[in-house]
Amino acid sequence: MKVLALGAHPDDIEIYMFGTLCAYAARGDELAFAIATDGSKGGKGDPGALSRLRKQEASDAAALIGVTPQFLDFPDGELVPDRELVMALKALFARERPELVITHAPNDYHGDHRALSEAARLASSFSVPVLHADNLRGVAFEPTYYIDVSAHFETKLAAIRCHDSQSPERFVEACRQLNGFRGQQANQANATVYAEAFRFEPAFPFVDIRDLLPPAPPVRAVVNRAET
Ligand SMILES: [Zn+2]
Repeated sequence: MKVLALGAHPDDIEIYMFGTLCAYAARGDELAFAIATDGSKGGKGDPGALSRLRKQEASDAAALIGVTPQFLDFPDGELVPDRELVMALKALFARERPELVITHAPNDYHGDHRALSEAARLASSFSVPVLHADNLRGVAFEPTYYIDVSAHFETKLAAIRCHDSQSPERFVEACRQLNGFRGQQANQANATVYAEAFRFEPAFPFVDIRDLLPPAPPVRAVVNRAET
């Protein structure tokens, strides 16, 4: 199958969904990455130089699993779900023909993320299902699916660390906490089990998309159940 990862900024795909994308890559699925903004507001200094640096960082990260990202080049910090963005996404979907799109959730903390989520929903119509990724601290995010990313977690951290301009260790630590917590939610007592969480809002004709997802963490009985 083919999966399109859609992030608002040059490091979003790595932070929110890279483990799952590694799982797709490992089983031979085709991947496409698209980044909506130019990343020019993610730091100090010349915006053009910062944008070029961040695109290189995103390209280096995607190359870890053999992907060349596309840049839609909308101005950073100004994303709105308007006709221009929706039409750009429609053209992207028509060009790539993904069977699944993964992007930010509509209640994400960042305005650019929310705008991209809404535009992706409008652009996808009923042609492709859109899966929503967790946010950095998991606030008000109610997952419907958990993907086991334990085998790919170090690759995910390596991808985040490609974004040297963003002081990436703070995101490495945030992902250890968030993906570890999501693993624990899935009843994984082992601290080395990591999960990425996603939410899907069913709309005809896509009501149950488990068929499109890599495996969840293994189902495990509650410890000592026989003794309680
Ligand atoms: Zn972002």
